[in-house]
Amino acid sequence: MNICSIRGAITIEENTKENIVINTETLLNEIIEKNNIKKENIINIVFSSTKDITKAYPAIATRNIGITDCAIMCLQEMYVEESLSMCIRVMITAYLDIEKQDLKHIYLKEAKKLRPDISLKNTGFAVAIDGPAGSGKSTVSKIISKELSFIYVDTGAMFRTITLYCLQNNINCNNQDEVNKELNNINISLNFENGIQQIYLNNENVTEKIRTQEIAKNASIIAQIPSVREKLLNIQREIANNNNVIMDGRDIGTNVLPNANVKIYLDADIDERAKRRCEELSTKGEKFEYDKVRQGIIDRDNADKNRKIAPLKKADDAITINTTSLSIYEVSDKIIKIIKENIK
Ligand code: C5P
Repeated sequence: MNICSIRGAITIEENTKENIVINTETLLNEIIEKNNIKKENIINIVFSSTKDITKAYPAIATRNIGITDCAIMCLQEMYVEESLSMCIRVMITAYLDIEKQDLKHIYLKEAKKLRPDISLKNTGFAVAIDGPAGSGKSTVSKIISKELSFIYVDTGAMFRTITLYCLQNNINCNNQDEVNKELNNINISLNFENGIQQIYLNNENVTEKIRTQEIAKNASIIAQIPSVREKLLNIQREIANNNNVIMDGRDIGTNVLPNANVKIYLDADIDERAKRRCEELSTKGEKFEYDKVRQGIIDRDNADKNRKIAPLKKADDAITINTTSLSIYEVSDKIIKIIKENIK
């Protein structure tokens, strides 16, 4: 037996004794049932409730459901801006025959929105983030995926990896037949460390190697080849089927995951995007000329927007966020808010 702590929360409709007690009972019963807790194995229970709950202690519900001989405590929470109103939280500590990773924390009613990572099923919730180069997709996707415990799938890295292979093997990226012939020799695999993607080309980790301007430029040529897109589409959809994902790219909302739960289109003025890319290069100690970086982004956007197959385009149901004058944290907060509103 292990000593485990299980958390849960529920919101109530009215600040009345009856409503507080009924909802707390529902929450406790569900935690106990879902985790197979024997009441005599409970060590202690800690409740907290928001300041607007005043008509009764949630702890009363423990006696009603037959828990009488463990330590119980009830606290009032501080007010935090934008937090839920009328919310009761609980933590039960008990001896359990279960491993920590198998514990089922329970979030009911509006409290679900507080912990989307826990309340969600383990798979199938998809956030599509599209937009032109330098609009902030990958930076915000990393922040959001960490905050929500989703995995972050960087689809651009997949096109870059095929490009790396072609450049290393003297395959002309402009020659579709040459690239087609090689596709079976290109094995791309992904691994997610702390939710962040590591990408492998024929078993070599190339996550850093693909971040060059030459690869970026050629990737938008490679990305026009139908067989390349088809190969990657299958990988991308399979990951989204088996995980909760933040997936960024150019055609995620329109083509890869047309049924994504949330679609975001990030954009920013060209000068701001060029400035960000230069800052990135400068941090890495790389040489650059602002005008060339700016022109490179314009050329890449044009290639991505004007190609025949799966061009860069805002999905009709995507929400556009212009990131020009926003910090990465302001953008991330906006998107997290939208995601939480969509988790029911
Ligand atoms: O996002 P990143 O700059 O890494 O993408 C590299 C290139 O891969 C893009 O310029 C684009 O041509 C291509 N791409 C794509 N579809 C995606 C993601 C990237 O065509 N979903």
